[in-house]
Parts: sequence; structure tokens; C-alpha cells
Amino acid sequence: MATLNLVLMGLPGAGKGTQAQMIVDDFDIIHISTGDIFRSAMKNETEMGLKAKAFIDKGELVPDEVTDGIVKERLSKDDIAKGYMLDGYPRNLEQANALETISSELNRDVNAVINIHVDPEILVKRLSGRFICRTCGATYHKLYHMPKVEGTCDVCGGHDFYQRDDDKPETVRNRMDVNMKMNTPLVDFYEEKGLLHTINGDQDIEDVYKEIKSILDKL
Ligand SMILES: [Zn+2]
Repeated sequence: MATLNLVLMGLPGAGKGTQAQMIVDDFDIIHISTGDIFRSAMKNETEMGLKAKAFIDKGELVPDEVTDGIVKERLSKDDIAKGYMLDGYPRNLEQANALETISSELNRDVNAVINIHVDPEILVKRLSGRFICRTCGATYHKLYHMPKVEGTCDVCGGHDFYQRDDDKPETVRNRMDVNMKMNTPLVDFYEEKGLLHTINGDQDIEDVYKEIKSILDKL
């Protein structure tokens, strides 16, 4: 099999993390998550890591060219000879274009983009379902784990529940809108390049993975 150089995409709650782990375990490629490589570049004080740190220490956003540089440093390492899977990068068209240049220079072009698709409305319901008993802190979920008696906590019998700000539908919906605005142009970009594979993420974890695996097996 040829090397597998992937970009993994999916909205929050689409199950990207679980699938990422299954892919790297199965295909023995390196998972490159942006958060991890930033931390590692800063810790190891690489040229780009130091640049990123300077921006972060000032409380400023890290510019694209520094992020691109960190990705380039990572993709230059030998351990990805069998393949890599980018997760959290690219986040916009500028980065996607930079990735094309970087990966082509290194002779490690992306050969597939896996987009795990779930209807955003379903994701909002999943991600905003959590609520908590104010008396004892027991957590519930509107879809997956309701109290046995409606309105009464299973643990303490309390009737007073609340939602964390992060779990509130309006917060979740805003976060989803921001992510959709970022993702849509990227999806179009990779579709035009003929690299995009859209996976139905609204099924069991194992079935989602089966779909991904059947695509990767054919590459
Ligand atoms: Zn309770």
C-alpha cells in the first residue's frame, strides 16, 4: 500500500477523536493534532515554536504562517514515512493552500480528506443535552440519560437542575456556526481537488469506521 497522508475533518461532536484513534491504530500512521504539535514545538523550543510562544505570551493570535511553519517542521520528521493524519489543520483556505505547498515540497502530498458528516442540528442536540442536579451534582443527558422519574434526580431525589454555560443550546449553536463557516470552504476546496470523502457520521461508531476503512483500503 502507498503511504497514507490524510486530513481528518468533522464538526464538534461528530466523533472525530474516536475515529482518529481507530485509524491510527489500524493503519499505523502518525496522528498530528494541532494542539499537540504546538505544545511540543514550544516545549522543544523549535524556531517556529519560539515564534508561536512569543505571540501566545502577548495574548495574540498565532498568525497562519507560524502555524504553517509548525506543521512543516512536524511533516519534515522521519517518523511519518508510513503516513500521517492531520487533525485540526488546515482551518482555513490560506492554511489549505500552504499545506499543498508544504506537502508537495516534502514529497508527502495529502492523498485523502476524510470528512465525518453529521447534520449540525443533530450535533447541537447531542452537545447541548447535558444537565446537572444542583443538589448533588449528578449529570444527565436529554438524549442519552434522563432521570428515571422525570424532573427527579435518581441519586438524591432533588428537583433542581441546571446547565453549564458551555452546554447551553445557544452557546453550542454559536460554536457550531463558527465551525461551519470555517469548514464549508475547506470542504469545497478538497472536493474540487477530488480528495474529499464524506462519511456518514450519524451511525454506530463501528459502522462509521467501516466506511472510513473501506475508503482507506482502496487508496
Ligand atoms: Zn441529585
